[in-house]
Amino acid sequence: MQLDAKIPGGPLAQKWDRHRFELKLVNPANKRKFDIIVVGTGLAGGAASASLAELGYNVKTFCIQDSPRRAHSIAAQGGINAAKNYTNEGDSIWRLFYDTVKGGDFRAREANVYRLAQISNNIIDQCVAQGVPFARDYGGLLANRSFGGAQVSRTFYARGQTGQQLLLGAYSALMRQVGLGKVQMFPRREMLDLVVANGQARGIVARNLTTGQIETHAAHAVVLCTGGYGNVFFLSTNAMASNVSASFKAYKRGAYFANPCFTQIHPTCIPVHGTYQSKLTLMSESLRNDGRVWVPKKPGDNRVPQQIPEDERDYYLESKYPSFGNLVPRDVASRNAKEQCDMGKGVGETKLAVYLDFADAIKRDGREAIERKYGNLFQMYEKITGEDPYGTPMMIYPAVHYTMGGLWVDYNLMSTIDGLFVLGEANFSDHGANRLGASALMQGLADGYFVIPYTIGGYIARTSFSDVTPDTAAFKDTAREASDRIEKLLGINGKRTVDDFHRQLGQIMWDYCGMARNNQGLEKARGMIQELRAEFWQNAVVPGDVKDFNQSLERAGRVADFMEFAELMVIDALARQESCGGHFNEAYQTEENEARRDDENFCHVAAWSHTGPDKEPEFHKEPLIFENVELSQRSYK
Ligand SMILES: Cc1cc2nc3c(=O)[nH]c(=O)nc-3n(C[C@H](O)[C@H](O)[C@H](O)COP(=O)(O)OP(=O)(O)OC[C@H]3O[C@@H](n4cnc5c(N)ncnc54)[C@H](O)[C@@H]3O)c2cc1C
Repeated sequence: MQLDAKIPGGPLAQKWDRHRFELKLVNPANKRKFDIIVVGTGLAGGAASASLAELGYNVKTFCIQDSPRRAHSIAAQGGINAAKNYTNEGDSIWRLFYDTVKGGDFRAREANVYRLAQISNNIIDQCVAQGVPFARDYGGLLANRSFGGAQVSRTFYARGQTGQQLLLGAYSALMRQVGLGKVQMFPRREMLDLVVANGQARGIVARNLTTGQIETHAAHAVVLCTGGYGNVFFLSTNAMASNVSASFKAYKRGAYFANPCFTQIHPTCIPVHGTYQSKLTLMSESLRNDGRVWVPKKPGDNRVPQQIPEDERDYYLESKYPSFGNLVPRDVASRNAKEQCDMGKGVGETKLAVYLDFADAIKRDGREAIERKYGNLFQMYEKITGEDPYGTPMMIYPAVHYTMGGLWVDYNLMSTIDGLFVLGEANFSDHGANRLGASALMQGLADGYFVIPYTIGGYIARTSFSDVTPDTAAFKDTAREASDRIEKLLGINGKRTVDDFHRQLGQIMWDYCGMARNNQGLEKARGMIQELRAEFWQNAVVPGDVKDFNQSLERAGRVADFMEFAELMVIDALARQESCGGHFNEAYQTEENEARRDDENFCHVAAWSHTGPDKEPEFHKEPLIFENVELSQRSYK
């Protein structure tokens, strides 16, 4: 299939306006004749459900959790970007656009990123109108702080709980529509498959997680907002329920998967401290506004931080990148932390940590000011590590955090399956090879509040729909396949727990497809994944019943998908013989160990299509054309 991103013509700044004008409209009275399924209630899904229902469509919304407001988005801490320029530092839509394209190492579409920067300002207005309690400065204006990869403060925040507050805003808008009867809410449902009828996405098969019942739901379009797949690494900062299953099932039904190897490793997380750990905790990037990153200059220095004098400390980010200092983008900060630890300068028991030190900021601004900005994050750190970060530097190390890859979508956010739209972290669209901090919330809300309400109308208005119901063959067949798979999982009757398989898969991915990759390691990983997957289907133990609340079964289904998807990530990483953003192939680096891109051969989106069980996926290329920014070696010096 020829990949057509459907990017509108005309000057960059006018593309979105022009496109909105050219999209066909659905008459307000006709909207109530159309049903839309939204899967996911994070910021993308919550915003989309509320906005589509507000327009008049009949919306059915699904989520795994018992309440829509428990989606993973609630964990977001640091903030959300917008080009308001309230701080008068010279920000603009253009600057946010440029920073994002550069931050993504020139592997994102210009048109999408520009639209995102344009919409960013509307998001803040929308959220303020909903009552989101953004931090304010003394004069009452909304306050801003800095995030990585930018030299202006453009991040709006609500202490260290920005995601929670934004989600409560989207949730109230969603529940208002539930109250009005325009959204039918299906919590504790897991989408097991996508139903494609006559080439169009027309519904889903879901499992009621409380009763085990398999359900089918039909609609005129399906909107996936199912989040990222960082949990393929087992240990990540993502919520335990985050998974790839919905996206992967859509991939198997014909949606292309784009850039699956683009993973973000976040530099400031609490280091791993034991084999039985199942989760990693993020320390928000906002902390790098005031925290200084350092390691002892001497490898193997075992003194406590307070005993290491100033001239024996290496503030390596500040010295290497004087312009951006501690606020270099995440991929750069993570790689540098790894480099320091590889040189033997890591700290703490495992030597896989660096310091994030607030002593200077506390001396400068006072403890109270630091507490006001980061109080809940400091408290969380102390609870987890038992150390008081006001008195001793935090110890941090990179961890898996976000996935830039996702289902391929065109400018309308539609996948390669007609009528299947993909929003938020689940799509690949706007961040290229590395996402800048505070841009995921911006993208999820842009997609949900401001893009999909237009583009889904354009699709519906130009499409003719055949009559399908849950009794149509496509639904029955898909439901049967989903049930058969559950039976198969329950019937393995092996000896090894699903978590144990997952942990091993995660270790393979971390070792060979993590912060640094090389061809030999990737080849090896591929073989290891295949072997592990074969063992999984022979030796996993999945206890419990099908017609019951069965979390082991839920996890087994998700891990089985990770087992297949991991191989696609490795295949993608092997195909991209360059380094860019979060994809760092050791063979391609500059003399200063920065990622070395190959724009001549790899300035494209790599999109993969499924060709059948145990068959090689097919590669499709969407060339990236830069008409407005010049491709350059990224520099933060
Ligand atoms: C600790 C942490 C802090 C972060 N802080 C920030 C920040 O400060 N700023 C920022 O911009 N970004 C931040 N991020 C990233 C950001 O939070 C996420 O990228 C974003 O919230 C994803 O939103 P989403 O709506 O796409 O998906 P999610 O919030 O992940 O929601 C996914 C939804 O899909 C549902 N779902 C998934 N699979 C299925 C299925 N098969 N069937 C039914 N439902 C399903 C889930 O139940 C859930 O409702 C942070 C991430 C983490 C991990």
